[in-house]
Amino acid sequence: MLRFEDILEKVESYHPAVDEALLRRAYVVSAHEHRNQLRSSGEPYLVHPLAVAMTLAEMKLDDASIAAGLLHDVLEDGTVSKERIGELFGADVAHLVDGVTKIGKYAFTSKEAQQAETFRKMLLAMTDDLRVILVKLADRLHNMQTLEHVPEAKQRATAAETLEIYAPLANRLGMGKMKGDLEDLSFRFLHPEEFEALRAAVDERIAASAANVEKIRLDLVAKTKAMGIEAEITGRVKRYWSIRQKLIRQAIPLEQLYDVLAFRVLVDSIPDCYTVLGIVHQSWRPVPGRIKDYIAMPKRNFYQSLHTTLVPEGAPPFEVQIRTREMDLIAENGIAAHWKYKEGKLVRTDARHEEHVGVLRQILETTRDVSDPKEFLSSLRIDLYPDDVYTFSPKGAVYAFSRGATPVDFAYRVHTDVGHHCVGARVNGRLVPLKSPLENGDIVEILTAPSAHPSRDWLAFTVTSRARNKIRAFIHAAEKEQSLEIGRRLLERELKKWKKSLAKLLEAKAFDPLLGDFGAGKVDDLIADVGYGKIAPRALVARLLPETAAPPEGAPKPSRVAAISSVVRRVLPFGAATGIRVKGENDLLATLAKCCQPVPGDDVVGYVTRGRGVSVHATTCPNVRTLLFDPGREIPVEWEKAKNATVTVDLEIRTEDRQGMLARITQVLSAANSNIRSIEARTSRDGNASIEASVTTQDRRHLDRLLVSLRALPGVTDVRRKLRDTDAEAG
Ligand code: MN
Repeated sequence: MLRFEDILEKVESYHPAVDEALLRRAYVVSAHEHRNQLRSSGEPYLVHPLAVAMTLAEMKLDDASIAAGLLHDVLEDGTVSKERIGELFGADVAHLVDGVTKIGKYAFTSKEAQQAETFRKMLLAMTDDLRVILVKLADRLHNMQTLEHVPEAKQRATAAETLEIYAPLANRLGMGKMKGDLEDLSFRFLHPEEFEALRAAVDERIAASAANVEKIRLDLVAKTKAMGIEAEITGRVKRYWSIRQKLIRQAIPLEQLYDVLAFRVLVDSIPDCYTVLGIVHQSWRPVPGRIKDYIAMPKRNFYQSLHTTLVPEGAPPFEVQIRTREMDLIAENGIAAHWKYKEGKLVRTDARHEEHVGVLRQILETTRDVSDPKEFLSSLRIDLYPDDVYTFSPKGAVYAFSRGATPVDFAYRVHTDVGHHCVGARVNGRLVPLKSPLENGDIVEILTAPSAHPSRDWLAFTVTSRARNKIRAFIHAAEKEQSLEIGRRLLERELKKWKKSLAKLLEAKAFDPLLGDFGAGKVDDLIADVGYGKIAPRALVARLLPETAAPPEGAPKPSRVAAISSVVRRVLPFGAATGIRVKGENDLLATLAKCCQPVPGDDVVGYVTRGRGVSVHATTCPNVRTLLFDPGREIPVEWEKAKNATVTVDLEIRTEDRQGMLARITQVLSAANSNIRSIEARTSRDGNASIEASVTTQDRRHLDRLLVSLRALPGVTDVRRKLRDTDAEAG
């Protein structure tokens, strides 16, 4: 069994200034916390954290990482808290242990195989410190090494997860050795028979050529030595999983695979690499198209090496990989190899690879000039995917979004119907407003109601194009439905004067020839345009029935306003609640615009909104100018005398900051028979106060009197009606 001293010795070998007391304390706490636990193998649990710490020491990691390796499972049982770890070992170790524990909470199932990439990215995004991933990988490696002791079903699940998530993650971080180990262990437990068969076949092939292999190796040693190059040459068997993948990909038998056997040549410098390549090519015939220069063009994970395949006479082909020791270290340990200790300090290794692109490069870039070890490692704490947010459904499905996404985006990602009917959301079990932005790791549950519908407001806080398109489409369809209904009624009414039926004309396709003239694609569009106010029903009927160009004897003078007003009243019962009627040539029910809150007596103008009836604005409202870009939708309106009607206006009252100001203002308001819906006072630094009041008034005269009374109050410096910040269509 591995002892703590073995780990300490290992760390001291590359980092003599190690904080021995810290590691020893971590060991003692781990031993204490796990004292009554056993591994599935029956061994004391402590074997596991020791093995994990040793793997981290082999990667030459820092004190905090090794301590975190020893402690990585102690939070699991909840007998010790993150805070306690922080007290005992510092915030850094506590952060790492907590991060590793969190990752353990998200189990990946093979059902979600298609989400593997998302899941991998999520793990990276959720850990703001790459050392968390390194500890997690070391943890997974030991669990895979001891997987034979767990039940078969668990073996498969763990092996599948390792193959889908952790091996690619190791690869992404350039950790070739970790990746290869994890893959071969997964292979063994996922496809045991295939694994054994392949291993036997490969072993047999190696054994058959053993003598030849040694001959080639010695040949290489002699030739490099003759050129004065210090080279370390080993014969290596390609990894089983990668052999399998290659055989499947290329659909060839094992005998045709060139690089089952590879020689690795490690040298001191890049020029030496190319010299060795020359020597090799002079000695054996290279296979054209199989010479790869990953030194000039490194892989995305920084792998650098020269590869070439050679065909000796009367023997199977073999591959040679040539690289510097530095490159080899990076190929094996990846991200973990990018720093080393020098005189007790962590320093950056050779910066050559920084010329190359990639996410990791950017990470390392930020650490270029950092020599203090603590600072260096804390600068590894960065968000690898700062623009993405990873969230979960209650069942554990992963959904990735751009930052700023809200539960509405989430709802539409789940299903269009969920989006259309969502009314609320629970995030991590708590009810939140639909517009609250989602955070990494949020578990999102959408609440729906069959009667609920998308609102135009949602466009203000959705970021995914999917959600936005669906919301727009829904609103458009609903508005079109309304406009169609209004248009149909307007036409029916107009046609009635000529004793014609809309239904019959539609049946006879009488509108079809007019579509082009009015720029409409379909008859429905044409009718909806009438409802929008784009086309006057009178004009359409005149084109449809030329004989009606002159009004029939005794018929009332046709008027678009009259027609719209009565139709609007019938189909859209807006405005009823205010008790205010706006008078056109006929009575007309309409809504008062929220932006300018017109009061009876104000000069007003009506406006046919898209699908939501007539909205009445004060002519002084700035929104009116925008609305009048579309004169077809303007409609003249005027106030009708109505009894006991009240409307609400917002007032802004500026005063000196005097005692009792608010009381005097409320007295004036109530004396004028005005109800106060809300009132709020704010004092500014310059000794003035600003009071915002929402009050009721009957009409313009009443309001004017009110304003005069307020302005007359001692201490009041200004009173004005406030314009709300609402968009014109909403008015
Ligand atoms: Mn563990």
